[in-house]
Amino acid sequence: MAEVTLVDIEKTFRGKTTVIPNLNLHIEDGSFTVLVGPSGCGKSTLLRMIAGLETVTRGAISIGGQDVTIAEPSDRNIAMVFQSYALYPHMTVARNIDFGMRLAKVPAEERRAKVAEAARLLNLEELLERKPAELSGGQRQRVAIGRAIVRNPGVFLFDEPLSNLDAALRNRMRVELAELHQRLDATMVYVTHDQVEAMTLADCIVVMNAGRIEQIGTPMALYQRPETLFVAGFIGSPR
Ligand code: ADP
Ligand code: MG
Repeated sequence: MAEVTLVDIEKTFRGKTTVIPNLNLHIEDGSFTVLVGPSGCGKSTLLRMIAGLETVTRGAISIGGQDVTIAEPSDRNIAMVFQSYALYPHMTVARNIDFGMRLAKVPAEERRAKVAEAARLLNLEELLERKPAELSGGQRQRVAIGRAIVRNPGVFLFDEPLSNLDAALRNRMRVELAELHQRLDATMVYVTHDQVEAMTLADCIVVMNAGRIEQIGTPMALYQRPETLFVAGFIGSPR
């Protein structure tokens, strides 16, 4: 597990488009923290800065008490799961899950054990020899999560991981993600624009609007005591 701290973060693209003017956020160790807000408010940018896939214009980021502001993604104790899965089409499920560990030269014995463990955890045991094209959307997303799990990160970063799935599958994966969080000792930072996902998964919700944090709290606190009309409208109104 690891906490994530963002201090005075600014993000300006190409020296002119400021999408995040000044943001401070502490994400608690072991929490399931959900970032919500309308499209374009800066959720993905924030997540990508935590991951090290995007530089910060100003400010500092620490993970597990260690300053990682300019660290490579591989040196950050994180693993990221994208909406688009990003699986290798020519590799089997097992190879996809194994790939990062091979690159990192993890011993074969350990890699085999970890692939097996991830497959068990994610219900992929029967599918290990298939190619991504032979999987459903939900199964592909499980493989993407498996690839993150074997890296054993302190922090999982999810960017709208369920948004390509149909409603029924989304509901099921939501339950699975909550169970996964119970089982793994990890902090989860989860981006969505779906209120239902936020309300059911989060123990802490961060409501963003135009690159700023509107309010932070438990789902119940935001629902019962929204501090702004924006939060009331975003959290309060069932769809
Ligand atoms: P969200 O994930 O909340 O939908 P994003 O973080 O993707 O929002 O984008 C926030 C804002 O930053 C948007 O206005 C988007 O157009 C802008 N943006 C994102 N990436 C870039 C980039 N590489 N160059 C310029 N502007 C960008
Ligand atoms: Mg986004």
